[in-house]
Amino acid sequence: MKVGIVGSGFVGSAAAYAMALLGGVREVVLVDLDAKLARAHAEDLLHATPFAHPVWVRAGGYGDLEGARVVVLAAGVAQRPGETRLQLLDRNAQVFAQILPRVGEAAPEAVLLVATNPVDVMTQVAYRLSGLPLGRVVGSGTILDTARFRALLAEHLEVAPQSVHAYVVGEHGDSEVLLWSGAQVGGVPLIAFAEARGRPLTPGNRARIDEGVRKAAYRIIEGKGATYYGIGAGLARLVRAILADEKGVYTVSAFTEEVAGVREVALSLPRVLGASGVEATIPPGLDAAEGEALRQSALLLKEAASALGF
Ligand code: ADP
Repeated sequence: MKVGIVGSGFVGSAAAYAMALLGGVREVVLVDLDAKLARAHAEDLLHATPFAHPVWVRAGGYGDLEGARVVVLAAGVAQRPGETRLQLLDRNAQVFAQILPRVGEAAPEAVLLVATNPVDVMTQVAYRLSGLPLGRVVGSGTILDTARFRALLAEHLEVAPQSVHAYVVGEHGDSEVLLWSGAQVGGVPLIAFAEARGRPLTPGNRARIDEGVRKAAYRIIEGKGATYYGIGAGLARLVRAILADEKGVYTVSAFTEEVAGVREVALSLPRVLGASGVEATIPPGLDAAEGEALRQSALLLKEAASALGF
């Protein structure tokens, strides 16, 4: 099965690498404005495949996306000195305005998987520009935040992260909402499990975990300038869920008719992911504080998308 990646910089190439290691994909086509970069990544990645899965990785143009079941959108421009967040967003929206008609023409049946940050606003931009049904435009959203939340809870409780069911919703960014109230471990409410395990969640522990989830990207960027391995692996996992029609529940971003009283905004909620993209959105259980935090997150994203004209 063919997957296209438009924008093969750090994130796009890391996603291709993770797909080669994870398998489940037959062919990966890298498209980039910088054709030399795409070719170099394709050649390097192809050399990884004898050690991993037999994925055919090559660079190509938009026409080579024909037949792709998923197209990852990881293209974007870097922030210029002195540039505001909104100006950067506007330039990234222009990048998507160039890309989307060409992707739509070459691969009209593909699910679009948006990775470019700020991912929620870019998912809204891609949804509006593509004219596709809303389930077919999926953003990587808070998949990594949710993974970090589960991992940190698991570490504290000394259990496997697979046994922890806890989600991060809303913006992939500062206003994201960690859903403590509905979290469960092995079918037991989190707080009760923590008590029974002899590892209670004190306010200090909760604050540490919150900070660990919310500030992870800042720490990584401070240390190495960008984040790409984690998101690359997350994107490869979402691609596999779509190609395999898995129907797993992931906190991905998608345009949503209404959330916490806010209309028409893209953000992350638990969603069922299958061959056609987002197949269902499940409103999570929220306490009053979480509900208000989700509303604030949605308002912030809506304002950013509206300021851009989307
Ligand atoms: P990130 O860390 O988000 O991956 P990069 O700058 O490494 O950031 O990657 C973004 C990629 O998007 C670059 O390789 C760049 O050439 C590509 N890109 C930018 N604009 C376009 C465009 N209009 N069409 C295709 N690719 C683009």
